[in-house]
Order: sequence, then C-alpha cells, then structure tokens
Amino acid sequence: MELTFECPHCETTAVVESVETAREVKCASCGDGRSVRAESFDGPSLRSCAWCATPDLYIQKDFPHALGLAIVLTGFVSSTVFWYFRMPVAAFAALLSTALLDLVLYYLVPDVTICYRCLSQFRGSGSNPDGRFQPFDLAIGERYRQERLRIEELKQKHGDQQARDGS
Ligand SMILES: [Zn+2]
Ligand SMILES: [Zn+2]
Repeated sequence: MELTFECPHCETTAVVESVETAREVKCASCGDGRSVRAESFDGPSLRSCAWCATPDLYIQKDFPHALGLAIVLTGFVSSTVFWYFRMPVAAFAALLSTALLDLVLYYLVPDVTICYRCLSQFRGSGSNPDGRFQPFDLAIGERYRQERLRIEELKQKHGDQQARDGS
C-alpha cells in the first residue's frame, strides 16, 4: 500500500511505497520525519491513518475530476455541434457514448482511501479491507474542516504573538 502525504513542515507532497512495512516516513525535501504507527495496520490491512492515527478515513474514486469534467464537456459540445447541423442521431450517440465512457471508467478506476484529518492518501491492496471505509460523509468532513480552521487561527495568533514579542 502506498501513502501520499503532505509534509506539515515544508508542505511538499511525498510518497511512501509499502507503508505497511515501513518504520519511518521521511520527507525527502526537508528531512522531517515521523515513525509509522504500527497500530494503524492489522497485518496488511489499514485500520487508521498511518500518519496521524485518525481512525476516520473515507474512500473516493482515484480519478482526476478534471478528466471526468473533460469527458462530459466533450460529449456536450460535440452533441451540440451535431444538433446544430441537424444530425439528431449523431447528437444522441455523442451524449450516450460519453455517458457510457464515464460509467466504464467509474468501474475500472480503483478507490483511494483518504484521511479526514490530514488528507493523507492510501492506495493499493489493503487500503480498504472488506469495505471498511465509506465514501465522504459531510458531517464528519465538516467536523475536521472546523478543526483545521481552528488550528490555522491558533497558528495565526501564535505568529502575531511572536511578532509582538520580537519587536
Ligand atoms: Zn518536508
Ligand atoms: Zn491522517
């Protein structure tokens, strides 16, 4: 299973392959590291975020939103063009084929498991054992979003305080 995380120190995105067997996760850019939480794994299965130990994780399709949008837009634009030239069958065919393409991709593309708190991503076998993790839940997501906002606020205040102390 592969872990993708953002270094809290320098905000670089880093990738660790086979995180379930790694002992330590280190940022290649600034060298800031932290040990992988062994309790996050149940053998090869993920139980909680290996980076921040949060048990709340959600799954989503590992599919770039821009690509999905591009497919839909292509279908829409080409069907409009066919419609303009009075080719209704071609217009419907264009819409239908892009819808089918979307559907096929949806089933082919694997899931990625994401941590609600630190937004680290887990890919590959064991990242969602027996469908343990569910798609994004707005209520849980909002709780963690509020938490992030509060942390940002505290950092801001702390920074202001330091600036005042320094002068
Ligand atoms: Zn770093
Ligand atoms: Zn996390």
